[in-house]
Amino acid sequence: MDSNTISRRAALRRTTAFGVGTAIFWLAAPAAHAQTGKLAKDAVKYVDKGDVPGKDCDDCMHFIAPANAREAATCRIVEGPINPHGHCLAFTPRAKPAP
Ligand code: SF4
Repeated sequence: MDSNTISRRAALRRTTAFGVGTAIFWLAAPAAHAQTGKLAKDAVKYVDKGDVPGKDCDDCMHFIAPANAREAATCRIVEGPINPHGHCLAFTPRAKPAP
């Protein structure tokens, strides 16, 4: 065996490992969301307190206000309870009502 053969084998192993790792990531990621059909908070970098005025969850078109004071607010696209003053990368401003 010459050094080129070993090098090709090593490259093939690395490529295969990368391909398998990538496939596992892509297969696992949607599965994590499959239960709720929503995005994980980590995936959209959700934080409980936003630092940009006017861009809190309750200013977002995806915000779902709680039905009563005992329930938590939720989001149409991000899983789990959210804080009305939270924020994430998927923030989309709510349409302003016509004057
Ligand atoms: S998309 Fe993000 S910013 Fe908008 S309500 Fe959901 S969690 Fe909050």
